[in-house]
Amino acid sequence: MRPAAGKERAAHDKALARLDFDRSPFTIAWEVTRACAYSCKHCRASAQPKRDPNELSTEEGMALVEDIAGFDTNPILVFTGGDPLMRQDLFELASYADSKGLRVSLTPTATALVTRKNMDKAAESGVRRIAFSLDSADSAIHDEFRGVEGSFERTMEGIENARAAGLPLQINTTVTGINSDHIEPMVELLEKWEVVQWSVFFLVPTGRGAQLPMIDAAQHERMLNWLYDLSGKASFDLKATVAPHFRRIAIQRSREKGEKTFVGAGYQYADGLDRPTRGVNDGRGFMFISHVGEVCPSGFLPLAAGNAREESVVDIYRDSELFCRLRDDTLLEGKCGQCEYREVCGGSRARAYAVTGNYLASDPACQYQPQGQVAPDRSVA
Ligand code: SF4
Repeated sequence: MRPAAGKERAAHDKALARLDFDRSPFTIAWEVTRACAYSCKHCRASAQPKRDPNELSTEEGMALVEDIAGFDTNPILVFTGGDPLMRQDLFELASYADSKGLRVSLTPTATALVTRKNMDKAAESGVRRIAFSLDSADSAIHDEFRGVEGSFERTMEGIENARAAGLPLQINTTVTGINSDHIEPMVELLEKWEVVQWSVFFLVPTGRGAQLPMIDAAQHERMLNWLYDLSGKASFDLKATVAPHFRRIAIQRSREKGEKTFVGAGYQYADGLDRPTRGVNDGRGFMFISHVGEVCPSGFLPLAAGNAREESVVDIYRDSELFCRLRDDTLLEGKCGQCEYREVCGGSRARAYAVTGNYLASDPACQYQPQGQVAPDRSVA
């Protein structure tokens, strides 16, 4: 589906608002490889230097794309890793996905592979958005995080190459106890690069990230409120990733201002990737497929509900016990289970699992105290 205009656009917005997460995810991330030249401290995948011989082959990848196209809603397909550029068949797979109507996005590692030529190839193969990771505007902090000296400079080069190729740009930032004081100065850079979206990830202590400190619930609250304020004035869109309580904060803040919260009216971008109108959470609007075909609710919740080599990912998403349980907010436990925001938020199931071993437990990154048995609020901000 290409970006639409006029009537077509209005119909597209309506379709987004009606998207049924029990039937189709909004976004699918496929870890095409775990190979990566970097060894970032917070890597959920614990990426390795070499490709796994058991990775899905080109033919299996094509079959997977075909299967995914069986969701008749044109989900976003993010080619992620490891470093997806470590696969020689990447652009072939991207082009095939684009031809099947999937909205393709790419998250390369900032290495010497992010050349102008590869960025041109990405654009030609139908990649609609490219996302680079940047964890600080301070090169030393970013390099320390990535475990590679010169990574910051490489990221700058990659961004320039992607922009020259005309690829809309997204920046992904992971907030941890190490870099949380260095996030705000990044805004100036993002404005300069005319990024489409800033996706701010809040650490889930899994993979290599289990060794890193999370910020506490009060710090999450402060940072999410700062992001809410920024969203009113930034030239780019903001997404709080693995922090679904951003929706609770946005609703609270907009109510304080006397604004009405509402269902529908999603965002639409020129690259057609858009933004969901409902709260996406692990297994609810989101699905992750690992390099060996395991189908998980997200990359941060490493529980497999099946394998793409053996069954349809459409069936796994719609019918597996794990995915169905994650979409049933009446099963939530602790604070999240009592919370009047559980339908629009529900807390990060990945963080609950990483911290407590129970994917239905409360999200420890949220300090909200539920107000009692209030009727679920179906509105979104
Ligand atoms: S208590 Fe749970 S459901 Fe409620 S806002 Fe916090 S994280 Fe979300």
